[in-house]
Amino acid sequence: MYDIIIIGAGPAGMNAAIYANRAGANVLLLEKGAPGGQMVTTAEVENFVGFGTVDGAELSLKMFDHTMSFGIEYDYGNVTKIIDGPIKKVVTEDKEYETKSVIIASGMNPKSLGAENEERFLSNGISWCAICDGNFYKGKHVVVIGGGNSAMEETVYLSGIVDKVTVLARNDLRASKAYIERAMKKTNVEIIKKRSIVRWLGDPKMTGAIVRNNETGEEYEMNFDGAFLFIGFNPNSDAFVDLGIVGDDGFIKANEKMETSIPGIYACGDIIEKDIRQIATAIGDATIAGLNAQKYVEHLDE
Ligand SMILES: Cc1cc2nc3c(=O)[nH]c(=O)nc-3n(C[C@H](O)[C@H](O)[C@H](O)COP(=O)(O)OP(=O)(O)OC[C@H]3O[C@@H](n4cnc5c(N)ncnc54)[C@H](O)[C@@H]3O)c2cc1C
Repeated sequence: MYDIIIIGAGPAGMNAAIYANRAGANVLLLEKGAPGGQMVTTAEVENFVGFGTVDGAELSLKMFDHTMSFGIEYDYGNVTKIIDGPIKKVVTEDKEYETKSVIIASGMNPKSLGAENEERFLSNGISWCAICDGNFYKGKHVVVIGGGNSAMEETVYLSGIVDKVTVLARNDLRASKAYIERAMKKTNVEIIKKRSIVRWLGDPKMTGAIVRNNETGEEYEMNFDGAFLFIGFNPNSDAFVDLGIVGDDGFIKANEKMETSIPGIYACGDIIEKDIRQIATAIGDATIAGLNAQKYVEHLDE
């Protein structure tokens, strides 16, 4: 029987584990892949204070070593279900664990386009995060793929850093009028509708793409320095839908104490409904979740 089981060993899960453990909880950290979450495949992190410019895999390892140095129990496990009750059960593909409290820190994955050569340029010319990578393209020309609110918002952000932003939307823009107007007001933003990426180009660096005009079927080469994909996310929340804590958008609603609507079940990091998804914000949420989950357990034991 654990005090707290934490699902996911990204920055949120690891940080929640440290805070809960140091507050006296008996913690199990479960991870279905490599510890580090989205950081593992991030080429360079430049905005995590105290680390300068650091390789994402290296930062993952540093955080993992730090977490393990407290003697926190860690296990491989793909969580498929949580069964709520006075004692909660966390079910993986091959085991079942009992715990007093659960912290869900399962994160998300940004969606890929699936165009030819995409794998080769991910985190190396193709990015999902303007706040993270915009600064690497100072004075350069980038394309934004997408036509929703987040694509427009990130376009405005990028326009303040790069030389030129070209937005390529597959159809008409889906963003609301206010978002579109803000982007269109920027003199270095160009919006082109009804375009798809067929193939990313470059060797070894990305230099552009073959673009299809979806109205005429014509394909042509376009040159640019980087691409930002804002075509949606896949939140890792399938295993928690039955609990009724997952919203229509796939993210979990948590209050400022990181409590979900179920007592004893907390959520933190990229999996919760929020605006800014960064390592620093994941860690901030996780501090709150770890400490509040421990308080919940203490209260149960009284
Ligand atoms: C390419 C890229 C570059 C980025 N660059 C930066 C940057 O420069 N600076 C910055 O601050 N942020 C950056 N980010 C964002 C940052 O990585 C995320 O905000 C952060 O990792 C979120 O942490 P998390 O722990 O909430 O989730 P995640 O990092 O997504 O970790 C969740 C973990 O949970 C595990 N998991 C999921 N479901 C289950 C399950 N059912 N059972 C067990 N385990 C499960 C996953 O395997 C994963 O390891 C970047 C993101 C990407 C994709």
